[in-house]
Amino acid sequence: QSLTDDVEPGAATMPLPQNDERRWSDTSAYARKKILQSWVQLPNGNWELGKILSTSGEESVISLPEGKVMKVISETLVPANPDILDGVDDLMQLSYLNEPSVLYNLNYRYNQDMIYTKAGPVLVAVNPFKEVPLYGNRYIEAYRKKSNESPHVYAIADTAIREMIRDEVNQSIIISGESGAGKTETAKIAMQYLAALGGGSGIEYEILKTNPILEAFGNAKTLRNDNSSRFGKLIEIHFSESGKISGAQVQTFLLEKSRVVQCAEGERSYHIFYQLCAGASPALREKLNLTSAHEYKYLGQSNCYSINGVDDAERFHSVKEALDIVHVSKEDQESVFAMLAAVLWLGNVSFTVIDNENHVEPVADESLSTVAKLIGCNINELKLSLSKRNMRVGKDTIVQKLTLPQAIDARDALAKSVYSCLFDWLVEQINESLAVGKRRTGRSISILDIYGFESFDKNSFEQFCINYANERLQQHFNRHLFKLEQEEYIQDGIDWTRVDFEDNQDCLSLFEKKPLGLLSLLDEESTFPNGTDLTLANKLKQHLHSNSCFRGDREKLFTVVHYAGEVTYDTTGFLEKNRDLLHLDSIQLLSSCSCHLPRAFASSMLIQSEKPVVGPLYKAGGADSQRLSVATKFKGQLFQLMQRLGNTTPHFIRCIKPNNVQSPGLYEQGLVLQQLRCCGVLEVVRISRSGFPTRVSHQKFARRYGFLLVENIADKDPLSVSVAILHQFNILPEMYQVGYTKLFFRTGQIGVLEDTRNRTL
Ligand code: ADP
Ligand code: MG
Repeated sequence: QSLTDDVEPGAATMPLPQNDERRWSDTSAYARKKILQSWVQLPNGNWELGKILSTSGEESVISLPEGKVMKVISETLVPANPDILDGVDDLMQLSYLNEPSVLYNLNYRYNQDMIYTKAGPVLVAVNPFKEVPLYGNRYIEAYRKKSNESPHVYAIADTAIREMIRDEVNQSIIISGESGAGKTETAKIAMQYLAALGGGSGIEYEILKTNPILEAFGNAKTLRNDNSSRFGKLIEIHFSESGKISGAQVQTFLLEKSRVVQCAEGERSYHIFYQLCAGASPALREKLNLTSAHEYKYLGQSNCYSINGVDDAERFHSVKEALDIVHVSKEDQESVFAMLAAVLWLGNVSFTVIDNENHVEPVADESLSTVAKLIGCNINELKLSLSKRNMRVGKDTIVQKLTLPQAIDARDALAKSVYSCLFDWLVEQINESLAVGKRRTGRSISILDIYGFESFDKNSFEQFCINYANERLQQHFNRHLFKLEQEEYIQDGIDWTRVDFEDNQDCLSLFEKKPLGLLSLLDEESTFPNGTDLTLANKLKQHLHSNSCFRGDREKLFTVVHYAGEVTYDTTGFLEKNRDLLHLDSIQLLSSCSCHLPRAFASSMLIQSEKPVVGPLYKAGGADSQRLSVATKFKGQLFQLMQRLGNTTPHFIRCIKPNNVQSPGLYEQGLVLQQLRCCGVLEVVRISRSGFPTRVSHQKFARRYGFLLVENIADKDPLSVSVAILHQFNILPEMYQVGYTKLFFRTGQIGVLEDTRNRTL
């Protein structure tokens, strides 16, 4: 697959503007080539298509739709493509690959429900926010038979299967985009296709049923997306030698636990809480002492209980069915629901002051007794673990009483841990159910659905981790494209060492360098009991100020220059989120429970802290549990992920959200453009241009320009004719390469030839 098309006769031979594709400064070229259509940027930032009526001096007069006429600086005009290129399947087919042309092309297709477009090797998917008639068996058949060739997730999945079988290489489908762009839906559509083609054993049905489970426990309504995934996911689908699905494995990344105890106005906590409250049977309600969602403080703080068009009770039944299908027993399901209820009741535990030093203890009310009952512990021990902390000082243990904020922290930390352990435990159950037998001879296709680059007004630890992950994925993406390019050059015998590719290694090093990188410094500061968010910020500024990807800002702020743009982070909460402490007392409490799930959670937390040390462990205050920092753990997961992806042939899908209101038919140029820049679609273009993007076969080249030769050697072979043309026109040697079958040019080099040809004709 090549990044650019051959130069075709006609429209596509128009030269690409040199140096900067966003500008077209040579206005006389307009006149010469009779280019009449051009993009004009309006004061609101949107681009509109205009006709050039006249050009004099540095100004042009443009007519816009609806009879408007405007005078503009010619330099600001951006060339538009001829109408015949409207809505091309692949952005690489555009003669002018500038931002307005790309925006227009995607919009043109979007208006006709053609939500998929290729950008060279990348599939771009624009979220339709409505049902589009592009899916189901009829379409699956068409893509399988290759009778439909328009860009589609199905086509990507089909290529993955074919290449897996043909090359005997594992494949990956890497989906990115911002929240609400359609990643999770796209992942499901890809899974649907794989299940249809590789199905038969019945396991594919189980695999598809992991979606409603993971979504119930890991998705929530946010302001951006009613069904926002609050975790990253890699699902590896295994195929036997005969191409049938034999099993699967799910890996999750960085579940947002804080949502369990805290969420913003208008958002919700995890779907499963509301589903349980709405859908539990009377018997289950009684057993769990369950009331309505409105009664729980954790759910009440955001003033949002329902989602338009969603019936939580009905969803609860689907989740139970799905749990049945992945072989989670009825007893285990009930334990899972008991843990959920325990978390909800824990949020209702309140505290009362017990001495004149403002120490508190939990009020012994219904909430406290219900929590104790649900997790199976002694109510007094629960009370103790929420009001005191054992501190080991040397060989002695001293008991510290908690103040109200400390007690609330201890309570919330317990709730968050129970929930995230529950999530991990479920993933484990799913994996056991989907496990491929010991004989794993076949191949796999992995689908990665992971949060894209995020840049908000205020960016915190979560964005820091997410954007770090995206830097890694971007490097993977760049290197893959580079490899594709290289292969084509090698195939045609040209010297590819002269191809420069920009890499984001500098930014990655800023994060990963030891001991003076962002992650190391963060971990170091997290181990200092007296470290604060401000001392962290100062430390970063002190050690990193000379790094070109870093900038210290006022107080607790610092900026990282990411490949997708600058992001300013606020270190507030960084240390606490990175340490993610749970008191040893709480772990001990869980391990003393009579119910098996809390005990399993406790031992998984202990196992985690006893693992061989890869990064610093946290032991604040002397007796807190020892754990890997969140950032270190995430970095480890990411390395493992990159290793896994490194052994696969990747296929990239970039999801785009055309508006922020989840509304069909609304295409906001500015919003789309910002995402195209962030997710690297325009980067593909840039990368493809940093090599020798224009490729023409010797024959074509000789035929097209041979008649311009002064010396008549037109009867010679195409290669000789081509070389003679290159010499006659003084094309500099570093601007082209002669391959076995094609000539390779740097951006814009064909322009001179094309100009002369047009003048001559
Ligand atoms: P992300 O995972 O990127 O945050 P989702 O996949 O959850 O986003 O998509 C958000 C919403 O957009 C979905 O709930 C659905 O309503 C809509 N959507 C996304 N992709 C499609 C599609 N291909 N067809 C129809 N609706 C879609
Ligand atoms: Mg999602």
